[in-house]
Amino acid sequence: MSALLELKNVSREFSVRRGMFDPRPASVKAVNDVTLALMPGETLGLVGESGCGKSTLARMAVGLLPPSSGEILLSGRNLQEWTPIERASRIQMVFQDPFSSLDPRQTVGASIAEPLMLASRAFGKTLSRAELREAVSGILARVGLQPDHIDRYPHEFSGGQRQRVAVARALIAKPGVLVCDEPVSALDASVQAQTLNLLKDMQESMGLSYLFISHDLGVIGFMSDRVAVMYLGRIVELASGAELFTHAAHPYTEALLAAAPSRDPSRRGERKPLTGEMPSPLSPPAGCAFHPRCPRAKPFCHEQTPPLVELEPGHAVRCHFPL
Ligand code: SF4
Repeated sequence: MSALLELKNVSREFSVRRGMFDPRPASVKAVNDVTLALMPGETLGLVGESGCGKSTLARMAVGLLPPSSGEILLSGRNLQEWTPIERASRIQMVFQDPFSSLDPRQTVGASIAEPLMLASRAFGKTLSRAELREAVSGILARVGLQPDHIDRYPHEFSGGQRQRVAVARALIAKPGVLVCDEPVSALDASVQAQTLNLLKDMQESMGLSYLFISHDLGVIGFMSDRVAVMYLGRIVELASGAELFTHAAHPYTEALLAAAPSRDPSRRGERKPLTGEMPSPLSPPAGCAFHPRCPRAKPFCHEQTPPLVELEPGHAVRCHFPL
């Protein structure tokens, strides 16, 4: 089976000022040599602390940001070769804040209809107003909203309803791949569960593949078939959800698990939570970037960057001394 979305050795650098009183430019590597593949029908979770590069990776994956180096393939073709409309008909994104994808001056019906209108034009078809309205009413019903919501404005909805509108907008043109960037982190706990269940239902009924990004391992565990753990721009561990939650091999994953409810009761209390702050990407530590916070760090880790190696089929880790 070939991957729907592939990131091959993808990096993204930004040029920034060193500080408020130091105008000299500096280069920050937000994403560093990431290789990932999203298979048809799967959910690939991407987890890591805020500022580790997850959102930059998400924006590159949908073509909103070009990589500085490396290649992103959508259905085997370089993402940069797709026109924006072609791309939007195959891959869509759901953001943390639905306001960022909904125009407050447009009715939600008009916002939802837009991607479908553009996608149909790309394939030489113009849909009538009645056809668009019917399609919008249909997708509103599928995401659990009422047909009369079509003429309302975003401010008339609750946070959870707005995220449903954003999901409807992302899915109306049947894109196949959905990149969800912290889609529930701004919602109340009860609404979070409803939204996650909605995303699962939509995935099953529409045969979607998700790249699902969150800082919350509980959410990632609920949603994902496989999980990639990111630290300071790099993937440090990649495994199936079941394997990662029971046999984490990277001390960073272990520390994240210590802060999340454990699926394995025998390991409760055994794991040490994470201490310290993530280093600034402006001056990443030499060697293994995790060494200043790692309880297992040895002098060797301060000097040599560990490669990502496969411990066993489907389970890769970037650590000189895996657990
Ligand atoms: Fe810790 Fe060393 Fe592994 Fe890095 S390489 S995670 S410092 S043990």
